[in-house]
Amino acid sequence: MRTPVFHPLRVIEVTPLTDDSVAVTFDVPDQLRREFAYQAGQHVTVKADVDGSDVRRSYSICANANDGKLRVGIKRLPGGAFSTWATSHLVAGADVEVMPPVGEFTVEARPIHYGAVAAGSGITPVLSLVSTTLESEPGCRWTVIFGNRSADSVMFLDELEGLKDRYPERLQLIHILSREQGITPLFSGRIDREKLAELLDRVVAPAAPEEWFLCGPFEMVMAARAELEERGLSPELIRDELFFAGPLDLSTLPPEPEGEEGSVLLTLTLDGRSTTTRMRPEVAILDAALRVRGELPYSCKGGMCASCKARVVEGEVKMEKNWALVENEVAAGYVLTCQSHPLTDAVVVDYDV
Ligand SMILES: Cc1cc2nc3c(=O)[nH]c(=O)nc-3n(C[C@H](O)[C@H](O)[C@H](O)COP(=O)(O)OP(=O)(O)OC[C@H]3O[C@@H](n4cnc5c(N)ncnc54)[C@H](O)[C@@H]3O)c2cc1C
Repeated sequence: MRTPVFHPLRVIEVTPLTDDSVAVTFDVPDQLRREFAYQAGQHVTVKADVDGSDVRRSYSICANANDGKLRVGIKRLPGGAFSTWATSHLVAGADVEVMPPVGEFTVEARPIHYGAVAAGSGITPVLSLVSTTLESEPGCRWTVIFGNRSADSVMFLDELEGLKDRYPERLQLIHILSREQGITPLFSGRIDREKLAELLDRVVAPAAPEEWFLCGPFEMVMAARAELEERGLSPELIRDELFFAGPLDLSTLPPEPEGEEGSVLLTLTLDGRSTTTRMRPEVAILDAALRVRGELPYSCKGGMCASCKARVVEGEVKMEKNWALVENEVAAGYVLTCQSHPLTDAVVVDYDV
């Protein structure tokens, strides 16, 4: 039982990757090693004071999990609060608040053929999955389809090419550039369903991967999933990680309803302490809970990062979106509280289990 909390970690290296992205490596002191142990494909939530505001965002770990190095890759988004700060102001020696790794975009390495479709910064968890498993499972191989705008915007290009040199028989790397002509039109354009189908038929065939990992923009992930499922792959063999599913809801936290009529009694447990409040069912449980327990863990508020995961112990809730929990977690009663609304007059959630 452990509620994730932020720890200040020292940045030991900030390495420019492209004009608009950096790799940031943290020092994990010995006493935090166990807490910061991770599986390839997991992510951390990072918090910083950006222009006077407490800004927290999730970043996938992009390192070989066998080495245990804690490194993330951050790509600047136009107007993006955290990514602009990190790519222009963050330097070695700074202390940054980081939460221990979480996430289900992971793999139990087996001697099979894996596939990945990634775009832009979506390569970060894929790099970790690929480098870790190629090393630890000599019987596995990977096909990675990686989309970018242009050759100079490809994050971790040298590292990916290095992996290809090291494992020439076991890593097939297919670059697709949307704003540059490749050697044939097949390698240019966006990765949509048609492009993926063509690549699967002409470049990846005949030995199609048996398990897939998708990470990139929402439309790309959904298109790839649809194509793979139509080709007969069962949904649980296709994993996806979404970085962004819509604008964040920055509206202020809703007030506690006046009177009991139509309201729900919410009880939440965090760090062994229970708190009760009243909320309206149209409000997300996380928002109602934050009003009384400001220390609750959360990050994306979009159903993607799983930081606000809790277990429903009593009552029923409806989860609007879920890009982060796997089937058996949902079956065990876990929900993303940022996406959950009460269906019963009383709901009890536990953030500690
Ligand atoms: C599980 C998880 C792992 C992630 N891993 C990485 C990673 O390894 N590397 C990385 O660079 N990012 C990653 N992200 C995205 C990251 O958390 C931030 O969303 C991103 O850096 C933008 O934050 P910002 O503060 O700069 O932008 P904001 O100030 O939040 O947003 C600026 C503008 O961009 C829009 N926007 C926000 N995020 C995105 C997005 N990802 N794509 C398109 N538009 C967006 C907003 O609606 C707004 O209009 C991950 C997200 C999740 C949930």
